[in-house]
Amino acid sequence: MVRELTHYIGGARVDGTSGRFSDVYNPSTGEVQARLPLASKDEVSEAIANAEKGQAEWAAMNPQRRGRILLKFVDLANRHMDELAEMLSSEHGKTFADSKGDVQRGLEVVEFSAGAAPHLLKGEFSDSVGTGIDVHSLRKPLGVVAGISPFNFPAMIPLWQAGPALAAGNAFICKPSERDPSVPLRLAELLTEAGLPDGVFNVVNGDKEAVDALLEDPRVKAIGFVGSTPIAQYIYATAAEHGKRAQCFGGAKNHMVILPDADMDMAADALIGAGYGSAGERCMAISVAVPVGEKTADALVAKLQERIKDLRVGAGMDPEVDFGPVVTGAAKERIEGYIAAGAEEGADLVVDGRGHTVEGHENGFWVGPTLFDRVTKDMSIYKDEIFGPVLSVVRATDYDEALRLCSEHEFGNGVAIFTRDGDAARDFASRVEVGMVGVNVPIPVPIAYYTFGGWKASGFADLNQHGPDAFRFFTKTKTVTTRWPSGVRQGASFIMPAGS
Ligand code: NAD
Repeated sequence: MVRELTHYIGGARVDGTSGRFSDVYNPSTGEVQARLPLASKDEVSEAIANAEKGQAEWAAMNPQRRGRILLKFVDLANRHMDELAEMLSSEHGKTFADSKGDVQRGLEVVEFSAGAAPHLLKGEFSDSVGTGIDVHSLRKPLGVVAGISPFNFPAMIPLWQAGPALAAGNAFICKPSERDPSVPLRLAELLTEAGLPDGVFNVVNGDKEAVDALLEDPRVKAIGFVGSTPIAQYIYATAAEHGKRAQCFGGAKNHMVILPDADMDMAADALIGAGYGSAGERCMAISVAVPVGEKTADALVAKLQERIKDLRVGAGMDPEVDFGPVVTGAAKERIEGYIAAGAEEGADLVVDGRGHTVEGHENGFWVGPTLFDRVTKDMSIYKDEIFGPVLSVVRATDYDEALRLCSEHEFGNGVAIFTRDGDAARDFASRVEVGMVGVNVPIPVPIAYYTFGGWKASGFADLNQHGPDAFRFFTKTKTVTTRWPSGVRQGASFIMPAGS
């Protein structure tokens, strides 16, 4: 049976009225499981009006009270973890265990935001900056803000955006991916159950029309975006055109350098998990391995080949499975197209994941683990983000060449180095032109109280996601200069007051 999905506006589920819909698939079966309404400009406007109403009450609450409601939500979401993870897995395709991780990493940011808000919203105070004059600053919420999120982390990314935004006293409009919108809708219900006032968290489902309505409406003060680079650039430019702040995070091509002294088993295990986990559909997935020296490369490729043989690909809810299907039939076609292109361009196709089948799930969107060796810089499989279970090995002759490769790539989201040499690792972490670095850690996604953000074509933003940056992004500063009558008449002054 095909379910009918809704929006979530003003504290309740609301049916779509635009007459436009999109299909939500179960990638493990290839079947359409739900119909998603795509919001019109008027429906987005209605959500913004509700958000404005709710925001006033929410902002008037002190930050500790707001935090308690958010912590109650975290508790509720934890109690509904299995339900959320199963829902997530059925629309995205990632395994049940990985889906729990998706929800958990999102909740960690809400938890941090709830606890840290009273501290991070504190202003500054200076006394006696002039005779009898004090200055203090205040951090105020922006009002109504919105988050536009990608399909690959349908719980984590909306919560990374909403957690700090809400804790800072804003109302939030979530525009989830059309591929897997059910978890954000369920999270909205849990927020209401936790005591969030109506209208403070809304979900509008939709496509470009809804996104453009959010970008163009002057009542929306800031936009958080995570998705592919061309759309990130579009959102960044359009938000600026409409006078609002934006933080936009885009695609990635994450390298992992393996020096000759690395623990090779540790490096190979890390590559298998980071390259193929979640079918390679993570913005911090490793898609390029850069072994230094032919001997290192030969040893690494042999170990990868051995491990790939044991990988189990299947339905997300099968507990025996290492990774699930890719998200749509179109994604499968695109990934298979890149595999064909890589072979044509002259890379060694060591393991070919095309034509993978899973018994009982013949129509699922399967791509098996794929390994290319001797990939070069000019090939499309090196230049482009493939976003599938495809790992490319680019052999480097020395450390400097490996460092240059990572730094010169168009994208700069994450990078890792595997070595036992502390000096080399320190040099690499300091000089590489990439936003997030792992030393013997393949997916260096920073914890909630640090910030997350890539460089170059991976991020268009002055401030990163979560951590203290998010509070700066979702607040504006007001500076108050105060003098009280002291009884001493000073008379009118006609010169610009200065500190001297
Ligand atoms: P996408 O860019 O296709 O979609 C992201 C969002 O933008 C969705 O909500 C979608 O509805 C909306 N959108 C799509 N086309 C639009 C248009 N023309 N105008 C306005 N809005 C539009 O991305 P995706 O396929 O859902 O997600 C995968 C991408 O996200 C990958 O490139 C991945 O690297 C990236 N990603 C980046 C990060 C990061 O932090 N840098 C994290 C996760 C995912």
